[in-house]
Amino acid sequence: MKLVCGQCGEVNGITRPDTAAVCQRCRKQLFPGRALALTDETFQRHLRIDETPLLVDFWAPWCGPCRQMGRAIEQAARELAPDIRCAKLNIDDYPRLAKTRDVRAIPCLILFRSGREIARREGVASAKQLAQWARRQILNTTGKHHGRRKSVSRSRSK
Ligand SMILES: [Zn+2]
Repeated sequence: MKLVCGQCGEVNGITRPDTAAVCQRCRKQLFPGRALALTDETFQRHLRIDETPLLVDFWAPWCGPCRQMGRAIEQAARELAPDIRCAKLNIDDYPRLAKTRDVRAIPCLILFRSGREIARREGVASAKQLAQWARRQILNTTGKHHGRRKSVSRSRSK
């Protein structure tokens, strides 16, 4: 599977996720045990190429609850590795991205898999709650890769 290095952006091919895996170019850990700080560019790159589910914390420095969430996501990063990678995105620095993703209230956590959003939640949660929630979403969507439409609206039709 393909894994984008959070440090240098190199695309690494690994046989299976492993917390000890290091980047073939910069030798840094691919699962560093903390949330990756994403930019516009690295966000797109991870989404496009990386094959590990990605949990992104959309936050801003002026938001009190975001700071609490910030600590939780760092801890969740350790708990979820190597199944899910955690990242943070400062929406003050990348407002366009927040808009494209329809982030209206922060902190907002969006879980991506294979380049698309599979779940989101707003508001503060503990690291444990976050980790449980993320794992449950992954389990729920396993085997349904192609079933989801691009629209985010929740239609009740079957
Ligand atoms: Zn690297």
